Order: sequence, then structure tokens, then C-alpha cells
Amino acid sequence: VAEPAFTERQWKAIARIEECSCERWFLEECVKKQIYGPTFADGEYYIAWAVNRYDVHPEFVGPVEHTFSVIEALSGLVLGAADNKLDALKVARDFIALIGRKHLLTMRGRLIEAATVRAADAQAKAAQIEAAQAIAKAQQKPRKIAKRARAVFEASEGKCHYCETVLTLDGKWHIEHKIPRALFGGSEQSNLVASCTSCNHAKRDKTDLEFIAARNAAKAG
Ligand SMILES: [Zn+2]
Repeated sequence: VAEPAFTERQWKAIARIEECSCERWFLEECVKKQIYGPTFADGEYYIAWAVNRYDVHPEFVGPVEHTFSVIEALSGLVLGAADNKLDALKVARDFIALIGRKHLLTMRGRLIEAATVRAADAQAKAAQIEAAQAIAKAQQKPRKIAKRARAVFEASEGKCHYCETVLTLDGKWHIEHKIPRALFGGSEQSNLVASCTSCNHAKRDKTDLEFIAARNAAKAG
């Protein structure tokens, strides 16, 4: 059977219906009754309501949040849900009237698909929001540059004191002691310079002058 050309209003209604998200819950904790009558035909739909939804299953989500749900027996789709039985039946009846019962019976696959797409969309949207929040959080907290580090960086003009490699303030660089701490060099500003990682590692416990001399000798040799 060809898919009927639904109007926008019909598609909106289709997109709103949900697959019963909690079959176990329905089987064990809900009263289920088949519905008969002109709109609901001969027991293809049932109405379900929770016995004591909050006590039994406080964390549930989905259509059973409503106390009463009208469910299509074969697909498990919730066609109408409300806080009371009459409203739930009315919502379901309106839905069936809007879509057309004939179409509804041939549209189960499409309806389930719509419900699945809807769930996937909600999930993707949640992931998107989460990612955006993570970015916002990361942007909110720029790396704190200590006052002393900034002063050392600026005194060294943003370059490695030894090899003049250009450094970035929030990138990878080291505060380097010209007279190393091992030789009782202090942490006063005048003893501190910015250094790239490789110079920092190479210098070890040499004084700045020893390190520069050793490098020049290596270059000359
Ligand atoms: Zn360097």
C-alpha cells in the first residue's frame, strides 16, 4: 500500500506519538483493558493505567508519565495519553480520526519509524547540547597564568632565553632558574627566565653562563 500524502498537521500528530518505552512496566504494573467501539474497532487498542506509578517505578520516562495511555496492541505505540481516562481516549480518538483508521492500520511500520526517529533526534539534540555546554565550560575557564609566570615571560620577551624560540604564554614553556636551585639560585625575578622545553632539559644543573658556553663550544666544534 502506497504511503498516503499526509498534511503537515498529520505529520505533526504522527511525530508526537510514542512507542511504549516500558513494556515490562506495562505488563507487570499496569491494568490493561481492550477498547471496543466505532473508533477503536474490535480490541486492536487497549487502555493502560498504572496501579501506583510513583511508588513502584519512580524513575520511569516516556508515555507512561501520563496515568492513562491508549496503546495500539500490535505496535505498542501510544496514541493518546492523559491524566484521566476520558482525555486519553479523546486524544487517541482525535489522532485516529486525523490520520484515518484505514491508514493507521497500514502505517504501523512508518509510525514506529517516526517514533524511533523522534527518539534518535532527541538523543542527538541532547548530545549536541552537552557538547556545546562542554565547550562553553572550557571557554569559561581559560588557563590561569600566574602573575609571576607572566612577569618572567614578559621579561624574556616571549622567547626562550637560550635559543630564542618564540613561546606562547599559555603554551608549553618553563620558568628557568639561571643559577639553578641546586647551586642555591633564588626565585627572585632577576634569576628567572623563560625557556623552551628542550633548553630546559638540556641545561639541567648548569648555570646560564655555563650552559651558553657549552652550547657555543658545541656549535663551534
Ligand atoms: Zn630554547
